[in-house]
Amino acid sequence: MKRYFLLLLMAITINLNLLSANVFETTVGKFKVFLLSEGQQQANASILLDATPEMIQKTATNGSFPNAVNAFLLQTGDKNILIDTGFGRNLFANLQECGVDASQIDIVLITHAHGDHIGGLLKNGQVAFPNATVYFSEPEYNYWLSSGNANFKNIVDAYADKLKTFANNQIGKITNKLFDGIIPIAAYGHTPGHTAFLIESDNHKLLVWGDLAHAMAIQIPYPQVAVTYDVNPAEAVKSRLNILKYVTTEEIPIAGMHIAFPGMGKITKTDKGFEYYPF
Ligand SMILES: [Zn+2]
Repeated sequence: MKRYFLLLLMAITINLNLLSANVFETTVGKFKVFLLSEGQQQANASILLDATPEMIQKTATNGSFPNAVNAFLLQTGDKNILIDTGFGRNLFANLQECGVDASQIDIVLITHAHGDHIGGLLKNGQVAFPNATVYFSEPEYNYWLSSGNANFKNIVDAYADKLKTFANNQIGKITNKLFDGIIPIAAYGHTPGHTAFLIESDNHKLLVWGDLAHAMAIQIPYPQVAVTYDVNPAEAVKSRLNILKYVTTEEIPIAGMHIAFPGMGKITKTDKGFEYYPF
């Protein structure tokens, strides 16, 4: 039984081609997918909300857990599509590793407007991707605009009419394909418009789930644990449970912005929670 299970897992593993310490390439159907890492680190368990000492003892023995900050580049035919921009630290060097100049980015999709996701949108106060259209979900855009956040306002002003919003889909009710093979899915709670992007091509899928989990080691076995960065922790927990159920039922591989190297893998259901198998 166990052996059969392992074989099954191997069958859905994707090949990873390492380009540098911070960049690797894989494919999802017609899409080339590059992980662009801003860096790997240990994060402190103090960011966890409602984690019991027993949970931390089991999963974050030294009071910390592996963490990263990632963005993703998708290439399809003649289009270069970024999902998030990290802090903008290694991002531009990482893009060079992929043979892509910032001016060649056509589309930037943003999961949510925290600094470690939109940090690369401006460079020295100027538009970093002069030929790109930048997309936020409607609730995310409205939340940050009405919050008066100066950084967000600078981005809105700089990109002006090159900044657009989209309507999210709910799990099980897909009506809006933002682009061919790219479907935005509501994963609200971490922020009011937090979005996961489903990449779908020729029967291959990958759910790039943004910040659905910050602490894979804890929040996958115990999805009910929230983090201090969640705008609405209860809603974030609900989204995490819904999406974990969705990706395990549909057997969809996942990738995330705070998943330590290689930043993507497969989730399976266990008796009480879920388990993560990195690729
Ligand atoms: Zn984040």
